[in-house]
Amino acid sequence: MPAASAAPAPAKSAPAKSGPQKAMERLGLLRDIDLALHLPLRYEDETRLTPLHQAREGETLQCEGVVTECRIELRGRRQLLVRLQDAEGDQLLLRFLHFYPSHQKTCAVGQRLRVRGELRGGFFGREMVHPQFRAVDEHTPLSQSLTPVYPTGANLPQAYLRKAVAAGLRRADLAELLPPGSVPPQLPTLREALDFLHHPPPRASLATLEDHSHPAWQRLKFEELLAQQLSQMQAQRERDLLSAPALRPRPGGLHEQLLAVLPFALTRAQQRVVEEIAQDLARPHPMNRLLQGDVGSGKTVVAALAAAVAMDAGWQCALMAPTEILAEQHFRKLVGWLEPLGLKVAWLTGSVKGRARQKMVEAVADGSAQLVVGTHAVIEDKVSFARLGLAIIDEQHRFGVAQRLALRQKLQAQSSRGGAQLEPHLLMMSATPIPRTLALTYFADLAVSTIDELPPGRSPIVTKVFADTRRDEVVGKIADAVHAGRQVYWVCPLIEESEALDLQNATDTHAQLCEALPGCQVGLLHGRMSPSDKTAVMAEFSAGRLQVLVATTVIEVGVDVPNASLMVVEHAERFGLSQLHQLRGRVGRGAVASVCVLLYTAPLSDTGKARLRAMAETNDGFEIARRDLDIRGPGEFMGARQSGAQLLRFADLQEDAPLLSAARRLAPALLDQHPAAAQRHVQRWLGGKAEFLKA
Ligand code: ADP
Ligand code: MG
Repeated sequence: MPAASAAPAPAKSAPAKSGPQKAMERLGLLRDIDLALHLPLRYEDETRLTPLHQAREGETLQCEGVVTECRIELRGRRQLLVRLQDAEGDQLLLRFLHFYPSHQKTCAVGQRLRVRGELRGGFFGREMVHPQFRAVDEHTPLSQSLTPVYPTGANLPQAYLRKAVAAGLRRADLAELLPPGSVPPQLPTLREALDFLHHPPPRASLATLEDHSHPAWQRLKFEELLAQQLSQMQAQRERDLLSAPALRPRPGGLHEQLLAVLPFALTRAQQRVVEEIAQDLARPHPMNRLLQGDVGSGKTVVAALAAAVAMDAGWQCALMAPTEILAEQHFRKLVGWLEPLGLKVAWLTGSVKGRARQKMVEAVADGSAQLVVGTHAVIEDKVSFARLGLAIIDEQHRFGVAQRLALRQKLQAQSSRGGAQLEPHLLMMSATPIPRTLALTYFADLAVSTIDELPPGRSPIVTKVFADTRRDEVVGKIADAVHAGRQVYWVCPLIEESEALDLQNATDTHAQLCEALPGCQVGLLHGRMSPSDKTAVMAEFSAGRLQVLVATTVIEVGVDVPNASLMVVEHAERFGLSQLHQLRGRVGRGAVASVCVLLYTAPLSDTGKARLRAMAETNDGFEIARRDLDIRGPGEFMGARQSGAQLLRFADLQEDAPLLSAARRLAPALLDQHPAAAQRHVQRWLGGKAEFLKA
């Protein structure tokens, strides 16, 4: 209510942008529709005046009165004191610790003020500290609706934002796009819903507005969920229009030859997913499939079998991993399996340079390298494939949204080469399972295969949670394990604020363990090392020449050393649940019983406790994902990692399941019968974000 700021400029902004305009851009408030969809956090009731004799202390209220006294008090802290008397003769003191000369003018004796603030019982009677206030006369009208309070940012005054939103709401095109009868009954139109939510009438139920159960909120959530479903289905239909090479396994072909040389038989779950993938590959449309399976469930061999089918049919394959260590490990394993069968595997990461790189790039371009393994360097601009038939991304959730988008564009670019116009198939792998509700909403156009069983002969990992006061005891356990011919990981926490501290911590721990374990080879692995040094240390550990490996979280993904049977995680309370589970998956890969010790430093937060308890109670990655979802909620679960932006602003997947199913039912009919309306709906809701949904 204090002095209003300048009126916002119209949406088509002038060349020079003011502070508030930049702040609005940061909030994504660019189009009229964005403003119209910027909903209040809460409301203030300025529709009535409370007589002071009816007001209770602690209450936030609006009242009106005439100034009877206005002075600056100099004792103690300098402050402006204004005494007000309302129509019934009751008194109220206004106290301002920060004030300008203009305040005194507005609050001159005899002036009528309308004030709003929290009523407190003070030493000198009832008072308000720093209330909102403005000068009025007897006829100044009251607000006709509740006053919205919007989420805002620095340099963006509430009053400016209110005006901008009100203007955006007036201008926005909110014409009904959905055919009659398609919206769940009892829900208002979008225009009605938004008018209501921005300016609710005085008697609106604040409770249903605040818990978002009001029909106006329901309409918004429904619209949002519908936009998601539409854009997902659209992506799927677009993909179905694209062509891909139909890859069928040949009797006696590479696929069978590989199965014959593997040192183990596939589990039933592996056989099933291999079959699901084979069916996709045999279709003349690009596969878009996620292979999920707990750590250690054997996803790599499934990928190798898919690659064998593609290569057998004369196409190239690319396998990408998020880290060099992991890529290197895949490379070794695949070379071991595939080169004896006469295939050429190329190796491409950021650290392959000069002539070696040139040779690799040429082998990829002329098609002589049938399989290319590496980091995202594989999809760099300068690399182009002769005939890319299948791209495999391991630990796909570790790649950022931008990288995933770049990959898709790259794959599309590959397809137009050589006039073939064929898109490669895409197989993504992840050990972080996507909960079902999320899979339905965010990944509706993604086919999912799940490996739900571990290879036989694994003994379950026992997880122990210890206070770090028992560190010496744990070091004793390491000595025992090494003595028994086993290997050990010691994981140091990632210290977010400081990479330097991180390193210090790992280096100190390394020195301590070297001293405490004489005669034992202790290695050190951290993010600051060059890729080739990392690879060298990892190779030493794999070969058993190092017995203990102190590492920061660089070993988190995919590292496979079956002889490692003990893992210690220091400051386990600082890790996320799925990260702890990934880490733990580095042990328990052989037949020996494995142990994971989670060391924590007291005091633990409630969520910290819940995470460590979940780790001690279950080894099942799906159960871990469920608990993670419970502890963090879906918004954070998806987080920046999965989505790059929080994609659902209003709807909640658990709570709004009925609206989600209604949206799922409506979306295909809308796409078929009203494609233009469907298009406008997606544009209205997602604007530029629609692309993200495809990543
Ligand atoms: P992840 O699913 O975590 O990527 P990997 O593919 O690294 O798991 O496999 C873990 C280990 O299990 C590897 O050493 C792999 O060779 C082995 N493995 C995979 N499948 C089987 C199987 N069916 N029987 C026995 N061992 C297997
Ligand atoms: Mg793996």
